[in-house]
Amino acid sequence: MSKGSKLRSDVASRAVRAVNGLSRLTGRGSGTVVGGRVGMKIAPDLVASLAKDRTIILVSGTNGKTTTTSMVAAGWGGVVTSNQTGANMPAGHVAALVESRSANVALEVDEAWLPDTLRTTHPRVVVLLNLSRDQLDRANEVRQMAERWRSMLTSSPDPELVVVANANDPLVVYAAEVANHPLWCDVPTTWLADAVSCPKCTLAISHVGTSWHCSCGFAKPLAVTTTLGDDLVVDGESIDLELAMPGDFNRSNAAMALTALHALGVELRGAVTRINALQSVVGRFSVRRWNGHTLQLLLAKNPSGFASMLATLPNNEANVWVAINARVADGRDPSWLYDVPFEMLRGHTVYCLGDRRLDLAARLDYAEVAYVVVDDEESIPKFKETVSLLANYTAFSDWLARSDA
Ligand SMILES: [Zn+2]
Repeated sequence: MSKGSKLRSDVASRAVRAVNGLSRLTGRGSGTVVGGRVGMKIAPDLVASLAKDRTIILVSGTNGKTTTTSMVAAGWGGVVTSNQTGANMPAGHVAALVESRSANVALEVDEAWLPDTLRTTHPRVVVLLNLSRDQLDRANEVRQMAERWRSMLTSSPDPELVVVANANDPLVVYAAEVANHPLWCDVPTTWLADAVSCPKCTLAISHVGTSWHCSCGFAKPLAVTTTLGDDLVVDGESIDLELAMPGDFNRSNAAMALTALHALGVELRGAVTRINALQSVVGRFSVRRWNGHTLQLLLAKNPSGFASMLATLPNNEANVWVAINARVADGRDPSWLYDVPFEMLRGHTVYCLGDRRLDLAARLDYAEVAYVVVDDEESIPKFKETVSLLANYTAFSDWLARSDA
């Protein structure tokens, strides 16, 4: 780095701290994005200069980014720089990299920003979790995203880059099969509706048991590094995965986080103990109290996220609360509710909450699920047991804010 650009990046870093400090102080923001934007105005290559000489793991995918990044950070041990507020574009990365100078860095990255972030940060490892449709009116078409990831890895300037990839998601396999060092993870993956046709030849993909293939030869990779059934095995080593957080979805996330850490030489036994102990991630999966109720908060933002979360619900749970909004951060169009397999809730009674509770009720009606539309939340009868509350983005934030630990 030249003297001039070093000076500019120092000035920019100070500006990031000052602006974010001010933003927190005045209560105008969480202090993660606005400072980053100012810093990058002063020094456009700020991400690159802050990332230099650090050991970086990037985590991307439609669902599980925040949780998996937290698992990577926790499993690594010691002080790890991370953007755990979920600000997963360059301004958020700048804020995290300025906030802590630790050499070990775990960053969650928005899918569309991954090629750019890979180029600027030169990670040692990138974790590709899954690809599915997100909010209909916002996200890039999912196949186009797989194509962009594939060309990113084809032209990657780092021959040593390790790519930890989900072997059960055909779109992820399509992107990662061009990598020099793919580490394939055979982990449970609920949602395959966005990869029914082959990304190479468009013919239908056949799913047989836990395997999949296309007649053109495109198929689930055979040489897997990580398998997760009842037991987790990473690179031949059996690992005692006993997560405090629920669900197969979190087990899959943990398996991929551990594979990434193993690739960097982190000792697996210590790492899994630290990951097992995680109780919640920015409120997700936390048990909260509100108005005499005990609620476990589950975040789900899109059809595949909902499918994963519905699969974590205990069968004997009679009542489930679901809160749906359609504000800007959620995507304005709630028609994605029709892609959620709410039929899984037959036998439960669903309390419909949030701005779009009527859209939810209509969907549940088609799914033949019993429901109650809740106009006044105070009127919900008190249940003795803990109730699962599934909520999409802004609804989740509302419930986290109004409830207590
Ligand atoms: Zn094919």
